[in-house]
Amino acid sequence: MCGIFGYIGSKNNAPEIVLEGLKRLEYRGYDSWGIAVLPKLNPTEIRIKKRVGKIGNANVDNLPHGSVSFGHTRWATHGGVTKTNAHPHIDCTKKIAVIHNGIIENYQPIKHDLISKGHVFVSDTDSEVVPHLIEEYMKKLPLAEAVRKAFVKLEGLNAIIVQNVQERKFVAVKTGSPLVVGFGKEENFIASDASSLIPHTKRVYFLEDGEMIEVHQNRTVLTDIHSKKTKKIKTQNLKWKAEDAQKGNYPHFMIKEINEQPKCLRNISQNTISHIPKLAKIIKKSFGTYMVGCGTASYAALAGTYLFSRIAKFHVNFAPGSEFEYLVDFLKPKSLVVAFSQSGETIDIIESVSEAKKKGVKTLAVVNTLGSTLYRMADYKLLLGAGPEKCVLSTKTFTAKLAVLLLLAYCVKGNLAEGQKALELGTVAIENILKKESLSKIKKVASKISASQHMFVIGRGQSYPIALEAALKIKESSYIHAEGLAGGE
Ligand code: GLU
Repeated sequence: MCGIFGYIGSKNNAPEIVLEGLKRLEYRGYDSWGIAVLPKLNPTEIRIKKRVGKIGNANVDNLPHGSVSFGHTRWATHGGVTKTNAHPHIDCTKKIAVIHNGIIENYQPIKHDLISKGHVFVSDTDSEVVPHLIEEYMKKLPLAEAVRKAFVKLEGLNAIIVQNVQERKFVAVKTGSPLVVGFGKEENFIASDASSLIPHTKRVYFLEDGEMIEVHQNRTVLTDIHSKKTKKIKTQNLKWKAEDAQKGNYPHFMIKEINEQPKCLRNISQNTISHIPKLAKIIKKSFGTYMVGCGTASYAALAGTYLFSRIAKFHVNFAPGSEFEYLVDFLKPKSLVVAFSQSGETIDIIESVSEAKKKGVKTLAVVNTLGSTLYRMADYKLLLGAGPEKCVLSTKTFTAKLAVLLLLAYCVKGNLAEGQKALELGTVAIENILKKESLSKIKKVASKISASQHMFVIGRGQSYPIALEAALKIKESSYIHAEGLAGGE
């Protein structure tokens, strides 16, 4: 998923603010980046800097000062990884700039039509149709209406943000891809991920699918793209602290987040636990519970089936998010779908929950990101409260999900206090593993096995999902082929 960050306000170093914002989104992975600014002096053309590769020590010295700027880290889907294909993209007049996340499924006929009308394309991306389409509509319409009209023409799951030289504002609209607006004093922000806003503001609004927002320095206007009616904005406050989203003294986010596990688990044992009885009751009353997740979250969901079997003697089913659609015929009106996701934006899980909802089945989202799509769409919700997980390799939110499942299983059994004790034992065990002496032993083992070409991680019973997760983590972090297997197999 690409990164998006935009600033509009009273400060004149907007490109620098955007560059820093993009750096906070770097952990998501990307192949190229770009920043656009509306110049303070002579704002007749949007100025852009694009580069292939990492932002690292990049600067925006050659961009002019300005107080309206946005940037993008690209994950190429259409067109190679080149400077020209990087976003933002502009129209023929260089007065409209667009950043885009997603895939425009019908970009070819749109491009064809625009070329026949005289538009000149410079990139191979699907995204470039957007500025030209807006340019075309702006011959008769103001910016926001032109953006709305262009967006409804696009097929697929997309988010776009647009700025032009005539009006000091961003126009943003989305279906599927996440966008969040941050509200500051004399300044507003827009980003693809709330954690990147924390150094600036905690007051945010998560855009719903089919909503368009005009972000000015001092105000915002929210519109439904189909009815064209304006909507009231209900902001919410992020609970994360600024230092939670920074590396601190750690060399990278993964090791920071591994070390945060005991803190996360204690938070679950002391705070999140208050939500467990109500949710356990809902699970107990359901008839056919499905636990779904993707990747690491799917292994947590699978571990849930073992915990519920062994502790609560209660049957729950499991499916990876991408497989769930083939199993929905099992769903009954009293079934319950428990969906696990760190970000709350995993598309296969969102689709699983949508399938369940279509069948009138209740859903419970266990997520780490307040306001995320999954969080908003589920009937019942539980926040993991693990703080931002920046590393793509999930660690602390995996153990947080296991902790929640452990408490739920004990609560379904009727003995939450016992679950809390078990969680404390697990927390102490992790603390011991994170001590210097055990870490040096782990390092020795790691250096011994690091020359291997293949690793097989085996486990039985509750250790089976852990074997799968361990193999995934080895692959993701070392690029050594690893396979997780049920020990008996
Ligand atoms: N499909 C667009 C491209 O290839 C957007 C990619 C992205 O979301 O980063 O440029």
